Amino acid sequence: MSLKSIVLGVTTLPLKVGALVTAFAIFLAWERIWPAAPRPQAPSLGATARLAGNLTLGVSVIVVYLLVALPATVIGSAHATRGFFDWRGAWAGGPLGFAIDFLLLDLFAYLWHRAVHELEFLWRLHEIHHRDEFLDSTIGVRFHPLEIALGGLLRGCLVFGAAMPLEHVLLFDAILLLMAWFSHSNIRMPARLEAALGWVIVTPEMHWTHHRTTKPETDQNYGAVLCLWDRLFRTRARRKRRLGMELGVKSEPDLPLGALLVEPFRNRRDD
Ligand SMILES: [Zn+2]
Repeated sequence: MSLKSIVLGVTTLPLKVGALVTAFAIFLAWERIWPAAPRPQAPSLGATARLAGNLTLGVSVIVVYLLVALPATVIGSAHATRGFFDWRGAWAGGPLGFAIDFLLLDLFAYLWHRAVHELEFLWRLHEIHHRDEFLDSTIGVRFHPLEIALGGLLRGCLVFGAAMPLEHVLLFDAILLLMAWFSHSNIRMPARLEAALGWVIVTPEMHWTHHRTTKPETDQNYGAVLCLWDRLFRTRARRKRRLGMELGVKSEPDLPLGALLVEPFRNRRDD
C-alpha cells in the first residue's frame, strides 16, 4: 500500500464512516415509517432492553472488528502482497482482482455462517444472534464478540493465502455491513423490486426465513451478500417469508445483554 493511498484513506475516513452511519439511520427510519411486518405482541424482552442490548452488542462488534479482525486483515494483506507470497501480480489491484476477492470473501462469509450453525460451540455463540424474536436493522450487527473475533482471525488467513489487497477487503466489509442492515431490516418495498433484487443479492424476504424458529429454514439461506452460494450448494429455502411468522430460537427466549454474553458458556445440563 503506497503512502499516498494511506494518506488518502485516512483523510476520507470521516466521509466513509459518515456515509455508513447515514445509511444505518435511513434503514432505522424507513423500517419505522414503512414497516413490512408488525412487531410481536408479547416478546420475552421489552422494547427498551432489546434495543439497548442490540445497540451495545453492535458497538462491541465494531470494537472487536477494529481490535482483532482488522489487524488480522492488515497483517495478512501486508505479508501476502510482498515478496514470494505476492503471487497474483499487478492484475490483482484491478477490477478482475477485486471481483475475485469479492467472490472469495462472500464465499467465506457463507461457509463461516454454515460452520456457526453446524458446529456445536460455534452455534452457541451464533445462537444469541438468532434469539431475537423480531428482525430489524439493529440485529444486523447483533453478534457475540467472540464469534466476530474467531471469524476475523480465520478470515485473516484467507486474506494472506489469497494475497488480497487491503482496499479490496475494506470495500467488501463496507458492503457486507450495508447488506447486514438491509437483509435483517423490516423495510417495506415493492414486492417486484425485492423479487428482482433476490436474483442477485440476499433480501430481507430471504434472510427473515433463515431466522424462523423451525427447521429446515433455520439451516438454509446462509448467504451474506450474493444469493449465488445458496443456489450452488442447494441451501436455498423453498418457503417464502410470511409476515407474522415466528422468529427466534424454539424454546429459548431472548435475554438481556449480560445474560446473552454469558449464555454460550452456561452449562445447560443444569436446566
Ligand atoms: Zn444464522
